Amino acid sequence: MSDDIRTKIGLRPVINVSGTMTSLGASIVVPQAVRAMEAILPQFVEINDLQRKASSVIARLTGGEAGFVTASCSAGISLAVAGAITGDNLLAIEKLPDVTSEKNEVLVQMGHVVSYGAPVDQAIRLAGGKVVLVGQATSTHRFHMENAITDKTAAAVYVVSHHVVDYGLLHLTEFIEIAHAKGVPVIVDAASEYDLKLFLAQGADIALYSGHKFLGGPTSGIVAGKKELVRSAFLQNMGIGRGMKVGKESIYGVMAALEAWETRDHAGIRERETGYLNLWKDELSDRPGVTALIEPDPTNNPLDRLRVVISAAEAHITAWDLAAALSRGDQPVIVRDHEVEHHHFYLDPCNLHPGQETIVAARLAEELDKARASNEIIATPFENRSKHRFDGMLRWPD
Ligand SMILES: *Cc1c(COP(=O)(O)O)cnc(C)c1O
Repeated sequence: MSDDIRTKIGLRPVINVSGTMTSLGASIVVPQAVRAMEAILPQFVEINDLQRKASSVIARLTGGEAGFVTASCSAGISLAVAGAITGDNLLAIEKLPDVTSEKNEVLVQMGHVVSYGAPVDQAIRLAGGKVVLVGQATSTHRFHMENAITDKTAAAVYVVSHHVVDYGLLHLTEFIEIAHAKGVPVIVDAASEYDLKLFLAQGADIALYSGHKFLGGPTSGIVAGKKELVRSAFLQNMGIGRGMKVGKESIYGVMAALEAWETRDHAGIRERETGYLNLWKDELSDRPGVTALIEPDPTNNPLDRLRVVISAAEAHITAWDLAAALSRGDQPVIVRDHEVEHHHFYLDPCNLHPGQETIVAARLAEELDKARASNEIIATPFENRSKHRFDGMLRWPD
C-alpha cells in the first residue's frame, strides 16, 4: 500500500467496481497507451499530420472514412454539431456559438436527453445548435420525427447509453432512415460502446466514442465517419474546439489504445471478469435479505455485472447505506449506485486490478455481517442522500 501513488499524495486508494466513471479517473489506461504517451511527450510534431495518422487508424477500426481525436466524447458532440452547422465556412466557424445561418436546429429524442455528468443538450447548445426535442420521454414515433425536420434542421443526434429511456423510442436504423430521407446527417453518441463499427455500419454519418472508457486510452474523444463531416468538425479546432484541444500525447495515446484494442484478449478478459462475478455471487449467497444476480449490459456490450438487491428488513441495512458503508474505510469500494433507490446496486468488474476482487468480497461480507449483528435497521431516509448530493462539490476546494 505504501508505494501507492494515491496514498503518497493524500488521496483515498479507491477500488472501482462502478464502471468507467470520469469522477474516478475513467479507466485503467493500457500499457501500450502509457508507453506511447511517454515516447511522444518530449518531441515536437506537426499536430495536423499526427491527426492525419490518427484518422487512418480510426478509419481502419471504425470503418469510417476519416476521424480525429478531441478532448472527450462530449467535445465530440459539440464539434460534430458545429461542423454540421458551419460546414467548412471558416468565418462561420469563428463566429460560433453565434450562428450565421438559420440552419442550426438539432433533433434529439426527448428520451435521449440525459446527463452523462453534464446534459446532452448542453453539448449541442454550446456549438450554436438549437435543440429540437422529438416525441415524449417514453415515446417517439415516425410522425414526431418526420414533422420535426424542416429546412432549418442541421443534424439529428442519437444517444446510445444505459442512461436513455429503453423502450418506446425510435431505434437507430429507423431514426437514420427518416433523417436521411430528408438529407439530415445523423450523429451517434456511442461514448461507452464497445462496438466501433456497428453504428457507422448502420448508416450513421458520425459516430463518437470516448477514448478513456472501454478502450483504456487517455482522456479523449474520437470522432469518426463521413470525411466531409469529420473535416468540418475538425476545422472547429480553429474556433470553439480550441478549448477542447488535445495534445500530441492524447492523440498518439488513443492511436496506441486503438491498436491495442485490435489485439486485446477479449475472451480472456471476459473469463476473468466472470470469475470475479461468481466469487462475489458465492460470497453473497445464503445471506438474509441479499439477492445477487448476474446481468448482461443493457446496451449489449460484452460485459456482465452483478446486481445486488437488498431487502433492508432482513439485511438490516438499506442498499444505499450499504453502498455508503463500502465507500468508507482504508480501502473504499465504490459501487455502481445510480439506481440505488430501487434497493439495488451493481458491481462492475471491468476496472479492477487483479487481487482487488477478494477485497471487494471481504468488504461486502464485513459490512453485511456488521449490519446483521446490529439490533436496529440501518436506514437513512433516501431523501437525505439526494438533498446532500452536491454538498461536497459546493464546498470545493474546501
Ligand atoms: C460518458 C458519456 C459521455 C461523455 O463522454 P466523455 O468522453 O467523458 O465526455 C457522453 N455520452 C454518453 C452516452 C456517455 O456514456
